[in-house]
Amino acid sequence: MSITGNLYYNGTWQQGLGGTYQAGNPATGESLAPTMTMATRAQVVEAVAAAQEAFLIYKDSSLAERAKFLRECAKEIEALGEELLTRVSEETGYPLARAEGERNRTCGQLRMFADLVEGGSFLDPRIDTAQPDRKPAPKPDLRYLNQALGPVVVFGASNFPLAFSVAGGDTASALAAGCPVLVKGHSSHPGTSELVAQAMGRAAKNCKMPAGVFSLLMGSGAEVGSCLVEAPEVKAVGFTGSFAGGMALFKLANARPEPIPVFAEMGSVNPVFLLPGALKASAAALAKQFVVSLTMGTGQFCVNPGLVIAVDGPELDEFVAATAKELADVGAGVMLNERICSAYCGGLERYSAVAGVEMLAQGHAINVEEGFRAQASLLGTSAENFISNKQIHEEIFGPVSLLVRCKNDAQRLQVLAHLGGQLTGTIHCAPGELEGHRDLVDALTRKVGRLVINGFPTGVEVCPSMVHGGPFPASTDARFTSVGTAAIYRFLRAVCYQNFPEYLLPDALKNSNPLNLTRTINGQATKAVV
Ligand code: NAP
Repeated sequence: MSITGNLYYNGTWQQGLGGTYQAGNPATGESLAPTMTMATRAQVVEAVAAAQEAFLIYKDSSLAERAKFLRECAKEIEALGEELLTRVSEETGYPLARAEGERNRTCGQLRMFADLVEGGSFLDPRIDTAQPDRKPAPKPDLRYLNQALGPVVVFGASNFPLAFSVAGGDTASALAAGCPVLVKGHSSHPGTSELVAQAMGRAAKNCKMPAGVFSLLMGSGAEVGSCLVEAPEVKAVGFTGSFAGGMALFKLANARPEPIPVFAEMGSVNPVFLLPGALKASAAALAKQFVVSLTMGTGQFCVNPGLVIAVDGPELDEFVAATAKELADVGAGVMLNERICSAYCGGLERYSAVAGVEMLAQGHAINVEEGFRAQASLLGTSAENFISNKQIHEEIFGPVSLLVRCKNDAQRLQVLAHLGGQLTGTIHCAPGELEGHRDLVDALTRKVGRLVINGFPTGVEVCPSMVHGGPFPASTDARFTSVGTAAIYRFLRAVCYQNFPEYLLPDALKNSNPLNLTRTINGQATKAVV
């Protein structure tokens, strides 16, 4: 197995005819071989046509066939072994252990969706039997079933080269739903993307899936990405990345003659509230955990704790002093690429230029010449200053947090009221302390997708109960999650069959219940036949 720099579509590897580029190692700044190629618009059109052709077959694949395919994808990704882990590490600057953890998470995700598909619960079959004698009008036989939406375009994220990329959560959930996937790979990790696509292609062939069920197209977002989103056959978009990128795609999708949903996860500042009881009990221990969460992966997580909010007092001073002590030992971490590194440095400068914002503590200065590195930082400001300066509400992607000092509980709520939607909201408190702060819990619940008590938001568990999403601007659709089994609902639509003959009904809705599914029949959940 080796990286060729080619694209994968219609079941074959093709050289991209839209130009070439070189991958880079962000830890050294050096280029990585081989030369990678980019798709032309004509190649995108060909790939989309193959995906549409595949859709007409893949949507009708049995639950068992689809589950087998997802498990085969996981098996083939694991079979890539050290080559994949080494390439991830070279292209991202992540240690091998992080690459391995993310590989395991990615394969676990694929297997989780395989189990979900086998269970069939996502189809949500409902049957309301006919009442021909009902007065004043007879009731027809009505049957409801979730169906695959159509080909889905997935934009891989730079910061999760495996788990939110070519075979990541968006891809796994779309394939589980019965939708072919066209990945617009991230140019920050093209070699990793190609290796994973090789595994996906092998899995598709081993399982005799239609050729266009999965594609990988590399190239710029403006060219290849836009062309994919505009293609009439494409029915939905999954995206993780910047606010600007997500909104550009959202607008493009809504300007189509047939608008389509864009499920964009665009990050957030993830407010962390430190209540007096928690600070009194353990300011130093809290600071230690906070710095670990803040600097993990050089802060390049969409759930990084970028905002700390607390009422002023000596315990808060103790927390700041302890944070400064912890940060003093943190080295300048490697960032994913030059663009993200310069955006981080620019963000720090922009925040520091706002009157009333001060630098409270920093990690090691950047004293390594090569590569792209970031100095971890804690900034501070008053609640009044925060409320009146919108520009310091924006996320700076990387290892920085802003501490907002409030005068009292009411001001803490005002700060929260001025925040936009968030992926997560965290509260640190002493046992029973929240009893007196239900207003804070209620206000935070209305703002976020996930609430954390006495923990930190980094570390997004992959499981059925996870919600990774949130009100705008954290995501473009607050009703859905991009992590966990519920992510599948983004790529389904319900169809109702009225007075259908038994032989034409999908198996999930047939009277005899051949798939042995739990169905809602006349309002009752049951496995019974009709
Ligand atoms: P990005 O710039 O949003 O890019 C993500 C993907 O979207 C790339 O494939 C990119 O294509 C494409 N894209 C971006 N703008 C587009 C447009 N106008 N039209 C069509 N396609 C477009 O994100 P990134 O490169 O991963 O990192 C940049 C910044 O995004 C970071 O500094 C950080 O602020 C944020 N970020 C957020 C998260 C999160 O979890 N929400 C994760 C990573 C990064 P190209 O190949 O042309 O760039």
